[in-house]
Parts: sequence; structure tokens; C-alpha cells
Amino acid sequence: MHTPVPEYLQEVLDALAGDDGGEVAQYIPDLAAADPDGFGLALATVAGRTHAAGDADREFSIQSVSKPFAYAAALMDRGFDTVLGSVGVEPSGEAFDELSLENGSHRPKNPMINAGAITVHQLLAGPGAGVDRRVERVLAFFSELADRPLTIDDSVLASELGTADRNLALAHMLRNHGVIDTDAHEAVRGYTAQCSVLVTARDLAVMGSVLAGAGVHPHTGERVMPAEVARQTLSAMAAAGMYDSAGTWFSDVGIPAKSGVSGGMLGVLPGQVGIGVFSPRLDAHGNSVRGVKVCERLSRDMNLHLMVSE
Ligand code: GLN
Repeated sequence: MHTPVPEYLQEVLDALAGDDGGEVAQYIPDLAAADPDGFGLALATVAGRTHAAGDADREFSIQSVSKPFAYAAALMDRGFDTVLGSVGVEPSGEAFDELSLENGSHRPKNPMINAGAITVHQLLAGPGAGVDRRVERVLAFFSELADRPLTIDDSVLASELGTADRNLALAHMLRNHGVIDTDAHEAVRGYTAQCSVLVTARDLAVMGSVLAGAGVHPHTGERVMPAEVARQTLSAMAAAGMYDSAGTWFSDVGIPAKSGVSGGMLGVLPGQVGIGVFSPRLDAHGNSVRGVKVCERLSRDMNLHLMVSE
């Protein structure tokens, strides 16, 4: 590839800007009001360089792209045995908000679906930390990864809590099976605050570059998570980050990734680069339509697929 990176990223956005397929998420009123045309892209390398194009600095709520980072924090706070004892790492092949648990163990199948992510959130900041400390923990950790102070969008948080019946049902189910012991409303309040942290596509790329660098922050050279935690997080993303299209995603694009209902997408090529995309119109799986296409194109042009060595 001979085009300089910034021009190349702009070319990718221009080529896909006309695609207006999909629909912005409707079930959270604040997200339904999002500008559907926003479109941003950023790449952040493990050497600490960031390239961005389009609306890469527009803030949006992180939503499910928070799940891998909260998982990493829980692994650090509670250790592998406790976290893996509560949440599996098998692909569920189901929608993100499916009301299902593994047979027998009653664990949520993975930390990328809501049942798993609600459980993971309860493990943050040590046993019995309480909702405020858990939310402080994710905010501080996400800010450290993004290398800037992040904030919570209180309007998105209130909006989502107003229509959170399905997540409340999940929390009650988890409590019924003894997977969590937090009050269901508190559990959902903390998890939803986690989903309401405001980020940009550039932030996601930088946060992803820490995972790509096996836990070392490219901006400071400091280790912010153990390498095993980065590896476990990327493995869970590869297995289940794209929900019920995880298999198609991995064969088409070939890198661990995570999507969210506000249109954010995170991709990570281990050892190389973090990718952040923002485009709010979603496909039937709840993944950003143009975000998926951007990643397919980058994977092809830049030879990102982990299963191909040329
Ligand atoms: N906060 C959203 C929810 O729990 C996150 C879902 C998502 O981004 N897929 O429904």
C-alpha cells in the first residue's frame, strides 16, 4: 500500500459514505435520536502513532464496546479463577441480549453478551465494592486506556435505565441462579453507567492499541494490564465479540473485534494496531453496517487477517 495512511483512511470513508443501510438503535430513546450519518475512523499503532479521518473525534456512548475492557479490569481485580468461574468464554451464537445461561453451571456463556457483561461488572473493584466504586473503577481504567479523562453521559444513562426491562430480567435471572448477589436494579445501574461512558473512534483505537501491545500503553510505555489479561480479553473478543455473526466476522475480517449499539466498533490486530470506527446505523445483529464494511476493507487492503500469512 503506497498511499499515505491519512489519505488512505479518508479514501475508505469516502468509498463507504454513501452506504445508508441499516438503522440506528431504537430501543434506547437517546440513541434513536443519534445523527445516523456520523462516520469516523482511527488507527492507533503499538508504536504510539494515531491516524484519524472523518468524525473520529465525535463523542458517543461506548455501549457494548465497554465489555472487553471491563472484562480486563475484572480479571485484574479478581483473578482468572473467580472471573472464569462466573462467566464462560464460549461463543453463544445468540443475540447480545439473549436470556440464556450455560446448562448445568448456569454461567453466562461469555463476557460479550449482556448476561456475561452484567456479571463481569459486579466483580469489579473487589468483593462487595458497591455500585459507585465499580463505576469509578471502569471510568478510571477506561480513561487510563484512552489516555484522557472520560465522562459518563447522564442523559444516555437515564434514557437507557428507563427502558432497561430486558437487562433487569437478565439480572434477576442471574440472581436467581446465584451468579450475582447484587440487587438487580443496582447491577443494571452500574452496568448501564459503564455503557454510557463517552468515547470517540480515536479513543477506541488507542484503547485497542493497548490490547494490541499485550497490555503496554503505547503512549507511555507503561504496562497497564498483564499480558495474560490482554490475551484472554482478545480471545473472548475473537470468540464472541460480534455476537451471532462472530463466525462470519472472523472468516471475513479475521481479527478480534467488539461492536456496540451506538455504532462504535473496536478491532485489534495483536502486535500491530487498534482500530476504532463510529457509524450508528446497525445491521440485524446490532453491529455497525459501515463499521463492518470499513473493517472488511482494511483487512483486505492491509492484510490484517490473522489466518493468512503472505
Ligand atoms: N447498553 C446496551 C444494552 O445493554 C449495550 C448493548 C450493545 O451495545 N450491544 O442493551
